[in-house]
Amino acid sequence: MIFKRPKIFRYLTNLGETVEKNPTITLSGALKKQKYHLIGDHSAVKRCKWLYESIVNGRPCYKQKFYGIKSHRCIQMTPSLYYCTQQCLFCWRAQSGDLQVTWDETRIPRLDRPEEIVEGCFKAQEKILTGYKGNPKADWRKLQEALRPKHVAISLTGEPTLYESLGELIGAFHQKGLTTFLVSNGTLPRKLSNLSREPTQLYISVCAPNEEVYKKVCRPQIPNAWEMLMETLGLLQSFRCPTVLRMTLAKEHNMDGADEYAKLVEKASPTYIEAKAYMHIGFSGLRLGFERMPSHAEVKSFASRLAEKTGYKIIDEAPESRVVLLSKLAKPVQFATD
Ligand code: SF4
Ligand code: SF4
Repeated sequence: MIFKRPKIFRYLTNLGETVEKNPTITLSGALKKQKYHLIGDHSAVKRCKWLYESIVNGRPCYKQKFYGIKSHRCIQMTPSLYYCTQQCLFCWRAQSGDLQVTWDETRIPRLDRPEEIVEGCFKAQEKILTGYKGNPKADWRKLQEALRPKHVAISLTGEPTLYESLGELIGAFHQKGLTTFLVSNGTLPRKLSNLSREPTQLYISVCAPNEEVYKKVCRPQIPNAWEMLMETLGLLQSFRCPTVLRMTLAKEHNMDGADEYAKLVEKASPTYIEAKAYMHIGFSGLRLGFERMPSHAEVKSFASRLAEKTGYKIIDEAPESRVVLLSKLAKPVQFATD
């Protein structure tokens, strides 16, 4: 994608720190510097920190702990790198305007084929893993397994349902023997209900207890987005796969209103709720201060209030990721990837 080159702008490192002024860099150039592996026109893979942690330090991510997928065999990708129907304050992606570059974020202009994207993801992951071969601390067995990925997190940035062939993309990953966790903001309910293939697990982000907070925190870019999200919550029970309401929490923004959140939970009746702290990383540093990150204790206190109102039980937690799992099942469904 060609963007108009700005005369001068600043871009951020993954620590959210302004580090460089460069008069000529493009948005894709800035993303490459942040270690995004770009695929075709609108997709990307980025190394998740937990891939490294699992292979080098034996520390898996919370999704391995909760659901059994293997962090070292996971590809973190998006088919919608530059595109989303929201501009959430807590988002780590580069949003239109962040780098003095603007574009229509709500439409992917040219669509790559699902098979090309899958192929590109495998190649990007292999390239990422090449860097581990010289690391004496890397677990050799895990590294060999990692070269044969078994799971895809379709969640890196952007709204994946903007990609018209999302169902086919999920199907193409499944055909290669991978499980898929899909994360959507729920603003395109018809795209979700018409998916030709369900993911292995479906996440819907619900980051506000009501429309007023939603408009302030999630900053929708399309009309009637709240109504669309409500429609998605209403159809969640029609999915056969496990479903999750994902709540990203930022202090003094969206951590009140447990009663209203509980009504949304009742409407959607998801299998799980994941309450998770906002993390001060990527481009979110342009919009929210470090002090907006809740501690794990604060996330847990929010989760306890929600448990009380909804009847869901807190069944697990991962303090290192500041996330708490609530569930209507006694134990989460496990997806073995060996
Ligand atoms: S499931 Fe998510 S957190 Fe875990 S390794 Fe994959 S991308 Fe990272
Ligand atoms: S929905 Fe996701 S990708 Fe879109 S702005 Fe919000 S956090 Fe970012």
